[in-house]
Amino acid sequence: APLPVETQSNKKKLVILGTGWASITLLKSIDTSLYDITVISPRDHFLFTPLLPSAPVSTVAVESIKEDVSTLIRQGSGKVTFLQKEALDVDPQNKKVIVEGDKAVDYDILVFSVGAQPNTFGIPGVYENALFMKEANDAVILKAKLKENLQKATELPAGSQERKDLLSMIVVGGGPTGVETAAELQDYISEEVAKWNPELAADCQIHLVEGLGNILGMFDQKMYTLAQDHLKKNGVALKLNAMAQKVVGNTITVKDSKTQELVDMKFGILIWATGNGTRPVTAKLMSRLPETQNNRRGLLINQKLELLGAEGSIYALGDCTFHKGLVPTAQVAHQEGEYLAKVLETRHIIDNTDNDAVKASLAKTIKDFDYFNQGALCYIGGESAINDIKMSKKIEFKLGGSFLSFKVWQCAYLAMAVTWRTRFLIACDWIKVHIVGRQ
Ligand code: FAD
Ligand code: NAD
Repeated sequence: APLPVETQSNKKKLVILGTGWASITLLKSIDTSLYDITVISPRDHFLFTPLLPSAPVSTVAVESIKEDVSTLIRQGSGKVTFLQKEALDVDPQNKKVIVEGDKAVDYDILVFSVGAQPNTFGIPGVYENALFMKEANDAVILKAKLKENLQKATELPAGSQERKDLLSMIVVGGGPTGVETAAELQDYISEEVAKWNPELAADCQIHLVEGLGNILGMFDQKMYTLAQDHLKKNGVALKLNAMAQKVVGNTITVKDSKTQELVDMKFGILIWATGNGTRPVTAKLMSRLPETQNNRRGLLINQKLELLGAEGSIYALGDCTFHKGLVPTAQVAHQEGEYLAKVLETRHIIDNTDNDAVKASLAKTIKDFDYFNQGALCYIGGESAINDIKMSKKIEFKLGGSFLSFKVWQCAYLAMAVTWRTRFLIACDWIKVHIVGRQ
């Protein structure tokens, strides 16, 4: 039924898909009173992903890195509607989003920012047997499994193969997600389990399996070598040039890419962190625009973040896109969200002006998106990190392996937190770990 006249809005309908880095930054940066805004996402919270690997071992609490969408959308000056549903399809011709329950939501402008999903590359047995490190609930599941296995292991003879297999924790993928997860698990074993049950800690082994010859490919050789040496020194077993092939029950088979030898490894916990894959709704949108959307790695966009094939009505941001020079990071998604807020504010003025000369001159003020790479940071365990920080296009410094690198890492992430609530809770969690340890 049509809305009563008094509640009908003459504002343009802006529909935003997702409640992640790109969408939430956009919402926080735009004047929300300019558009009739609807946010659609299956997730009712924003997740501060950089500290997700710290959550399974309680270095930070899961709740400290979540922020309710309802709180965030109340902060702007305009009314924002939140629909907690998954978008299933987009019809770019008729400007509709199809959501769960077969409902259609109309838009004038759509912001498509649904992120990515963990990629398993179709390797058999992964979905059935591995855990992931992508969503808040993944941390909750890993925490429960870790506790369960440690408890079960106390009932098995110390040093027995059965107990060692149960306490074998394999992380597949030596990107930053895998490295930080392995580092946090190792911290938990060395700093907590070893305190209350040294025999149990002695039977635990964290393995990090990487298909290439080194981990952390986005850092230079000096930094990743430092990270590798540091992880090994702290007790992580690093398996390089080892491509995971299949998982059956509690056994993973990896292939040595030099010798082609196949090796079976038993595990009590397997964590899969081999990077990003395309979500079904993104693949569907690609199939709707086959002439322009022909790259399976992500949605193709122009320099103004408009979706090729639907310029002017659909913008695509963040991990669901593929664009030269833009990596799938929170940093990129954040800067894209800030940029788009400015573009949409200018578009609002253009749409509400009758003067063609003013329209044309305002349109010219919409510059291309210009990404500024601030560098990369990665926690490597034992209160140490590797940091490659770019202050400006000319000023850059690298810091790794020291306590200072850890403090810089902590400060950088506190600065990156999207609300003061998260910032405060994270800082409290870190102090708590320092004083009373992790639970
Ligand atoms: P996301 O933040 O993933 O948000 C996507 C949103 O879309 C979510 O709310 C999701 O629920 C929603 N959604 C999914 N499907 C649908 C659908 N069908 N309909 C509607 N909504 C949907 N980057 C850094 O720069 N620094 C870091 O330190 C860092 N650490 C990381 C640590 C981990 C463990 C992980 C997994 C990633 C990390 N990243 C980091 C990468 C960063 O998190 C991503 O690049 C970033 O989240 C991308 O933002 P996004 O908005 O594109 O997607
Ligand atoms: P990634 O793509 O960066 O790394 C995945 C790793 O898995 C690669 O090194 C790859 O060689 C390896 N791999 C792939 N298939 C394999 C197989 N079958 N067997 C063994 N190894 C295999 O993935 P990620 O770490 O999840 O990161 C995803 C994105 O999020 C990246 O852009 C990353 O920069 C960003 N991120 C950043 C941070 C940070 O800045 N601290 C933390 C996490 C994620």
